[in-house]
Amino acid sequence: MESNSRKTQILKEIFGYDSFRKGQEEIVDQILNGRDVLAIMPTGAGKSLCYQVPALLMSGITIVVSPLISLMIDQVKALNEAGVHAAYINSALTERQITKALELAAAGRYKMIYVAPERLLTPRFLDFACHTELSMVTIDEAHCISQWGQDFRPSYVKITEFIRQLPRRPVVSAFTATATQKVREDILEVLDLESPYINVSGFDRENLYFEVRPARGKKEAIKEYLTQHREDSGIIYCATRKNVDELYLELQNAGFSVGRYHAGMGTEARNESQKDFIYDRIQIMIATNAFGMGIDKSNVRFVLHYNMPQSMENYYQEAGRAGRDGEPAECILFYSPQDIIINQLLLDSKEQIGEYTEEELRVIREQDVLRLRKMSNYCTTSMCLRKYILNYFGQETEEHCGNCSNCLEEFVELNVGEIAADMIEC
Ligand code: ADP
Ligand code: MG
Repeated sequence: MESNSRKTQILKEIFGYDSFRKGQEEIVDQILNGRDVLAIMPTGAGKSLCYQVPALLMSGITIVVSPLISLMIDQVKALNEAGVHAAYINSALTERQITKALELAAAGRYKMIYVAPERLLTPRFLDFACHTELSMVTIDEAHCISQWGQDFRPSYVKITEFIRQLPRRPVVSAFTATATQKVREDILEVLDLESPYINVSGFDRENLYFEVRPARGKKEAIKEYLTQHREDSGIIYCATRKNVDELYLELQNAGFSVGRYHAGMGTEARNESQKDFIYDRIQIMIATNAFGMGIDKSNVRFVLHYNMPQSMENYYQEAGRAGRDGEPAECILFYSPQDIIINQLLLDSKEQIGEYTEEELRVIREQDVLRLRKMSNYCTTSMCLRKYILNYFGQETEEHCGNCSNCLEEFVELNVGEIAADMIEC
C-alpha cells in the first residue's frame, strides 16, 4: 500500500483521528522521506503524533528521548492501549526489568522505545542500539539541549554522542514548543541535524483575545471583570504564593466562587482544589505557575495575569489554557513595572537543578534576564500583541489581528481620525 493511504489509515485506526492538524502531515512526510526534522509547535498542538505515525511506518525501531519519566509512562501507556508495541527504559524500572525490556526490544518486539537521555551512553543500551535496526531517533522537548533555553539539561547533549556511535545514522527528528531563534540554532548545531526540514506552526490561537492593562486598581478591575463574567470559568495567575492567598481571601469575601493552588499548600489540598476546578465546583482558580501542568479543561473562558510572568514562554503557556474548546476566550495581563523587580528577585533566588559549570550558569542567568525583558516589552509595545507573540516564537503573521487590545485601540484612534477628517470636510 502506498504511504499516503497507510499514514491516514494509521492515523484513523490506531489514533482515532480523521485528519492531520496543520503542520503534522508535512512533518510525517519529511520523516518518511528520510529527512531530519526540527518541528516547533506549541504545547497541545500534537507533536507526538508527528513522530509516532512515521515510527509505525518505518521498518525498524524508533528511539524517543524524553526528559520526564511521567511523560514517558503516559505516552507508552496510551500507545499500548492503542495496540502499539512500545516500552520505556528509565530509572522507574529495576535492573531486571531493563534487561528484559532490552531483550524483547532486540527481538523486535517494540516499534518505539522511550528512553531518558542519561541512559543512552550506558554500555548496555549502546550495545543494544548498535545491534538493532534503528529507523529514527526522536528528541522530544528538544529545547532541553540548549543552554539558551529554559530547562537546559546537560544530559541532552549526550544524544549527539549516542547518534555518532551508531553504525548507521538513523533519521533524527527534534520537537519543541519553546524555541526562540537562538535555541533553534543551538538545537540544529548541537544535534548536528543534516539539512533538516524546519517547521514552525500552530502557535496562533485565533479564538484568544489578548489584552494588557495597567496594574493600577487591578483588584477592583478584576472584581468588575468577574462580575461581568459571572457564568464563566477562568484562571487568575499570580507571581507569588502571598499574592495568591491575598487575592483568594479578597475575592472569596466579595462572594466569588474561588479556589487556590500553589506549591505551599499540602498535596491533598492542592489535588482537591484542582478537582473542584476541573469539575466546575468552583469557577475561578487563583494560582501560581505551579498550576496547570497537564490540566486539560476545555471551557476556561479567561486567563487573567495579576502579575507579569517571567517569560513569553510562561505567559503563552499559561494564557493558552484559555479556550481549548475553540470558543472565544480572553487573556488579560495586568502590568506594572514593579513586576519586573518581583521577577528579577524570583530569578535571582531560583535554584538551578543539575550540575552546571560557572560559564553555563552565567549564560542561563543572562538568558533569564533577556527573556524577562522580552516579556516586559510585550506589556509596553504598541504593536499587535498576537504578532508580537507569534514573532517571538518565530511564526510569521499579519500586521493586525483585530483581536487584541492594541489592534482595537488603534482602530479606535483611526476612527477618531476619520471623524475629524469628516468634520474638516464639512
Ligand atoms: P504536544 O506534545 O504538542 O504538547 P500532544 O502530542 O501531547 O501535544 O497532543 C495533544 C493532544 O492533541 C492529544 O490529546 C492528542 O491526542 C491530540 N491530537 C494530536 N493530533 C491530533 C489530530 N490530528 N486530531 C485530533 N487530535 C489530535
Ligand atoms: Mg509533547
